[in-house]
Amino acid sequence: MRRGSAASVAASSEWIAEDGVRQPGGEAHAWRPGTNQTLCGLALSRTRLRRFPHVPFDFRASDVLTEQDRIGYICPRCVAATSRRGERNWTRTAPRP
Ligand SMILES: [Zn+2]
Repeated sequence: MRRGSAASVAASSEWIAEDGVRQPGGEAHAWRPGTNQTLCGLALSRTRLRRFPHVPFDFRASDVLTEQDRIGYICPRCVAATSRRGERNWTRTAPRP
């Protein structure tokens, strides 16, 4: 396994940028490609979050959303999960319901 595989964005809505690339909007969570849930434990299928494997989740807790951002909400739990040091600790997996 690679060191701290980067998380991508899963968001509640999407828009198309001028270059034609899908971009996340609405509510943003972190998601690792290959998994079916966000880092905070939301099931992608149940919440209908869209996946953006080409968009890295690199938000920080200090990030400020501007009017240019189409994202209205960044999940603080996913920010915490991706900004934590010592990423080996993230292996805890949520139990299935
Ligand atoms: Zn989240």
